[in-house]
Amino acid sequence: MSTAAIVVLIVVAVLGHAMALFWYLAVTRQWPISRRVIYDLPIKPEQIRRELRNSIHAPLHAVILAGFLLLGLFQNTSVLSFFLTALLTTIWAEIWHYASHRAFHVKRFHWIHVEHHKSHLNSWLTAISFSFTEKLVFDLGLLGVLAILDRFVSLNFFGIAAWYIGYLIINSFSHANFEFRPKSYNHLFGKVLTTTTYHSLHHSRYTGNYGLGTRVLDRIFGTEWEDYERLYDRVSAETPLTKLREKVDAPDAPPAAGPAR
Ligand SMILES: [Zn+2]
Ligand SMILES: [Zn+2]
Repeated sequence: MSTAAIVVLIVVAVLGHAMALFWYLAVTRQWPISRRVIYDLPIKPEQIRRELRNSIHAPLHAVILAGFLLLGLFQNTSVLSFFLTALLTTIWAEIWHYASHRAFHVKRFHWIHVEHHKSHLNSWLTAISFSFTEKLVFDLGLLGVLAILDRFVSLNFFGIAAWYIGYLIINSFSHANFEFRPKSYNHLFGKVLTTTTYHSLHHSRYTGNYGLGTRVLDRIFGTEWEDYERLYDRVSAETPLTKLREKVDAPDAPPAAGPAR
């Protein structure tokens, strides 16, 4: 294994905790980025202790990725393969995350995912608070399919690692309890990409908004919360929500409906 690969694996191993520390400082020192609160509700110290215990599994991504590398996979080192692998990983991760996430919400498999959902309100640690099994299933599904593809088109380890680095940063953004994107975000990029508010709704309401980085699959399968954009506008106007199940009705419309599933 090259020195560069070892350095990148160490970054993947510690980045989740580094991002958690960043958001902790943002909240406790009241940095401007944390001004627009999503849920104006207290987080109990027990939640932080539980999430801290769960976060011990966070370096598992790096361990599993290292295992695939040591098996001789993902050996392409060309610049073109780096970008193609990163793109392929992004697309597959979005699909695999949505499919496995929906499966985790089925009664039979929910035990895998229940630990992450004990946090109805997101804290600076929720992004790295998962059960060991959930991380294992997610990583093996993600990398297992890429390993099969690697037999046909040689993939690039650094392209996959780049996706993990992006994921660890963006996923920690998705679990903050404040919205930092522009107020007009949902007029353009936000039509396709998710926001912190988007995933906060998944935690507070327990279902709907299953997507990782995009709204595409939630739209296709009818699992997006109907009042999401109105709720985003409300948070953007610095009027936080004060109840976990609070909905934002359209003006002159019947109460907001939830996703069918
Ligand atoms: Zn879930
Ligand atoms: Zn989550």
